[in-house]
Amino acid sequence: MTLSIYNTFSRQKEIFTPRDPAHVGMYVCGPTVYDYAHIGNARPVIVFDVLYRLLRHEYGADHVRYVRNITDVDDKIIAAAEASGEDIGAITQRTTDAFHADMAALGALPPDVEPRATQHIGEMIALISSLIDKGHAYEADGHVLFNVPSMETYGGLSRHSRDELIAGARVEVAPYKKDPADFVLWKPSTDDQPGWDSPWGRGRPGWHVECSAMSEKHLGATFDIHGGGIDLVFPHHENEIAQSTCAHGSGTFAQYWMHNGYLMVEGEKMSKSLGNFITVHDLLKDHHGEAVRLAMLSTHYRQPLNWTAEGLKQAKSQLDGFYGALRGAADIVPAEVETPAAVLDALRDDLNTPQAIAALHALAGELNKTSGDSAAKGALLKAASLLGLLQLDPEEWFKWQPEGTTGGLSDADIDALIEERKAARAAKDFARADQIRDDLAAQGIVLEDGAGGTTWKRG
Ligand SMILES: [Zn+2]
Repeated sequence: MTLSIYNTFSRQKEIFTPRDPAHVGMYVCGPTVYDYAHIGNARPVIVFDVLYRLLRHEYGADHVRYVRNITDVDDKIIAAAEASGEDIGAITQRTTDAFHADMAALGALPPDVEPRATQHIGEMIALISSLIDKGHAYEADGHVLFNVPSMETYGGLSRHSRDELIAGARVEVAPYKKDPADFVLWKPSTDDQPGWDSPWGRGRPGWHVECSAMSEKHLGATFDIHGGGIDLVFPHHENEIAQSTCAHGSGTFAQYWMHNGYLMVEGEKMSKSLGNFITVHDLLKDHHGEAVRLAMLSTHYRQPLNWTAEGLKQAKSQLDGFYGALRGAADIVPAEVETPAAVLDALRDDLNTPQAIAALHALAGELNKTSGDSAAKGALLKAASLLGLLQLDPEEWFKWQPEGTTGGLSDADIDALIEERKAARAAKDFARADQIRDDLAAQGIVLEDGAGGTTWKRG
């Protein structure tokens, strides 16, 4: 077993060697909960879900700990509360619930630990105090700032120039910075903003320090993999490294950094102002989550992903093919088999999901060719489970329709018409039988006559 992953820190593919194979740790930056997750937010969740499944396969489910945080204190949340008048606690709870529902619909396993920032304020204050004690941070007018020049190796992950570092840090308003690249660890809160007592007065943490404190609490000062979207490399991950290694010593913190690429929509940057902003919540109204998941995994995680309606349609039609093979073998009990090497090898090569999906097609072809071989069915299901695919009953897949669909035929209506058609054929009333088939087709219901009887699917 050799798992190789691309380490953003070294800019090369490396053999993954966990510090302790009995305790493999992975931290992925989670959502800031003030609004529905968009499809760009869903990409890292799906990508690192596949990695999580692979790590569990390689090291055993009990030996992998996946931590993904919830950022429930942030200026964006405060702004959302001010704009809507809704209570902050209500916004964060409602949005967290929606996030959980959306990610479950995309087939993502929940992480082992999902720490919330507001429940780790004490750890953040301790970390900031330690940075002040070690001369890496300073207090200025109710703020605490990380002093970038105090860390010789700052910038190692992003490899940004000094000018880029300054430009990146400028977004944080703090007129008392000793150095223009310094960033905020703690900031004061007004009475109507969320705040906690601290040695520097009532205030709240900066975003970067949240992840340093929560990863340490749940994975230790040093752990294996840290993941997130590529947009987090700078400043967020760069600053996490600065905080954690300056507090604990160089060489501590994440050993492998993994980042998924950008997501575009129909070739353009996704933005609210361009009107091409797609939330997972909206997408799931019309599309099955598994089709969304397959569409995402059809591009290698490090490549930019161009999200298109056509790509989603193709993913749906590929799943029809896979589930069609499984439906044809519905009565066969799948054999217990080893995970097929073609899929495993693809994923072990820096999560090559397009290649793994190609291998699934070969396995489905094998199942079709053998017309329902027990080992072939077992192989397809086992391989697909590593990708979080094909775990539904095929009937459920083919009969799925968007929630809230009205006016269409119910499953029972369709079954009754199929029975009527069967009776018409038995009575040699082929005109009536054809009429029923055509009527159903006009409503998007496709009948398939096979040796075992007639099955149907929603088109
Ligand atoms: Zn983070």
